[in-house]
Amino acid sequence: MTKYFFSGALLSCIAFAANAQDAKRYNILYIMSDDHSFQTISAYNHILGKYAQTKNIDRIAKDGVLFERAYVANSICSPARATLLTGQHSHMNGKYTNRGGFDYNVNKNTLPELLQQNGYQTAIIGKWHLTTTPKGFDYSDVLIGQGLYYNPVFIKNGGKKHTVKGYNTDITGDIALNWFKEQRKTEKPFAMFLHFKAAHRSFSPATRHLNLFNDCEIPMPENYFDNYSTRGKPLEISKMSVARDFTRRDLKVDFTYDNIQIKKLPEEYKIWTEHYKKENAPYINKTFASKKDAAKFNYQRYMKDYLRVIRALDENIGRVLDYLEQANLADDTVIIYTSDQGFYMGEHGWFDKRYMFEESYRTPLLIRVPGNKNKGVKNHNLVQNIDYAPTILDFANIKIPAEMQGVSLKKLLDKGEVAEDQWRDSLYYHYYETQTAHKTPRHDGVSTKRWKLINFYELKEWQLFDLKNDPSEMNNIYNDPQYATVIKELKGKYAQLKKHYHVPEEIYSIHAGKLKSYK
Ligand code: CA
Repeated sequence: MTKYFFSGALLSCIAFAANAQDAKRYNILYIMSDDHSFQTISAYNHILGKYAQTKNIDRIAKDGVLFERAYVANSICSPARATLLTGQHSHMNGKYTNRGGFDYNVNKNTLPELLQQNGYQTAIIGKWHLTTTPKGFDYSDVLIGQGLYYNPVFIKNGGKKHTVKGYNTDITGDIALNWFKEQRKTEKPFAMFLHFKAAHRSFSPATRHLNLFNDCEIPMPENYFDNYSTRGKPLEISKMSVARDFTRRDLKVDFTYDNIQIKKLPEEYKIWTEHYKKENAPYINKTFASKKDAAKFNYQRYMKDYLRVIRALDENIGRVLDYLEQANLADDTVIIYTSDQGFYMGEHGWFDKRYMFEESYRTPLLIRVPGNKNKGVKNHNLVQNIDYAPTILDFANIKIPAEMQGVSLKKLLDKGEVAEDQWRDSLYYHYYETQTAHKTPRHDGVSTKRWKLINFYELKEWQLFDLKNDPSEMNNIYNDPQYATVIKELKGKYAQLKKHYHVPEEIYSIHAGKLKSYK
C-alpha cells in the first residue's frame, strides 16, 4: 500500500482552503478622487449631476448602496488620507493639515499593512499626498505631492521618479489596468487603492473635453451671492470666493505649476491656447457690464472646467469597472467610490472645501458589494471617513483593531438602512489648518441628522443650523432663545463625542503647526 507524506506547505494550503470557506475574503477596489463633490455625481440627483453625466460612477450606485449622509472628519486632502489609513480622527493619527509627512512611528498597523500581513496583494496608484514613502503596499506608483495634470511625475515602489507623457487621469487609469493585467497575483485577494488627482484645483481638463458645455449655461446656486448675514466673520474672512479669489491661473489666462507641462505637448497646447483664448475673451477684453456679470462669468468658467475634469475621471473609472467584469473579478470585488472630501460648487459663493458646512463636510460614498440584495438603495445613516478602514477590514475578514475609531458599514450595506437607535446619532468634526492662502478659521463641531453646531473657537463664535428647515445653512440661529434646549442638548453630545474620541482640551490652544498625535 502506498504511503502518503504531507509536507507542511500542503497542510497549510488545506488549512487556508478551509478558512477561506468559512468567510469570504473579497477583493477590494477603493477608488478615491480628490475634491469631487456629491453634487456632480448624477446618482445623487442634484441638478449639476445632469451636466456631470457620471454614467460609470453611477454603475456603482445602481448595483450598490449610495450614502446620502457620508461625512469627513477634517475636510482637507492629506488628513483625509491619513484617516483612510488609520480609521482615526486627526488628533489621534497626528495628521492635522497638509503640511508635513505621515508618521509611521506613531501609526502602526495601518490599513494596507494589515491587509498585506493577512495575505492580500496591495497596491496604491495615483495621489498619495502624505510625503512619507508608502508602507504596506506590494506595489505603489504615486504622484509627488498634488501631482501635475499633464506629463505627471510618479514615484514607483519608493524608487526613482518617472515622467509619463499625457493627461494625469488617463495615465492613472492606464497604470491601474496595467497592474491588473501584469502584476496581479491570481492566488491572492487584492486590495487596490486607486486615487485620482482629479478634480483638484487647477481644474485642468483633457483637451478632448474642452468643447463640452460650450453652448450651455451651468445653473448657479441660489446662494452664490451670499452676503453672510447672521454668520459674519467666520465666513467673511475666508478667501475662496469664485467672484473674488478665482485667479487668472484658475481661468487659465496664466499657467500654474500643475498644468504648465502642457506646453511640452505641442498638439494639446495648441488646442488649449486656442480654446481658452476664445473662452476667456470677455475677461481679457474686459467687456463685463458690472461686477456681478464678472462674478457670473467666473462661475461658468469654474464649473465648466470642473465638469470637464469629472468627465475624464468618470471615463477612466468606467475602464477599470469594465476590466473587472471582463476578467470575471466583479463578482468577488467590493467596490468603493468616494472623494477625500466634498467641494463647493459656488454655494456661499465659494470654491474649495475646509468648512463644516454641508457641501465640503459631506463627501460622495458609493459601495457595491457583490451579491448584495440592496441595489440602488439610498442610505441615510450618519457615516464618516473614519469608518472606511474598519469596513474594508471587515470585508477582508480581518480583525478590526480596537484603536480604530470608526465602525464597519457592513451592517448598513447588509440591511440597506438601519433604525435610528441601531446606529450613531451624531458626528464630530474638526478643521485645524489656518496657515493657507484660504484663511479659513479653525473650528470643530457636532452634527446630527437635523442639527449642526459649529464652534469657531479662535473667533469665540458658535453657530447653529437647522438642516431640515435650512439645508443651505443660511440662517445661524445660535442666538435665538427658542433654541436654548437644542443648544444644550447638542453641547452635551459635543462633550460626549470629544470624550469618546479622546479629544484633548489642550488642542484648542496649540498652534496648528505644533500639534502632535494624542495616541
Ligand atoms: Ca482634496
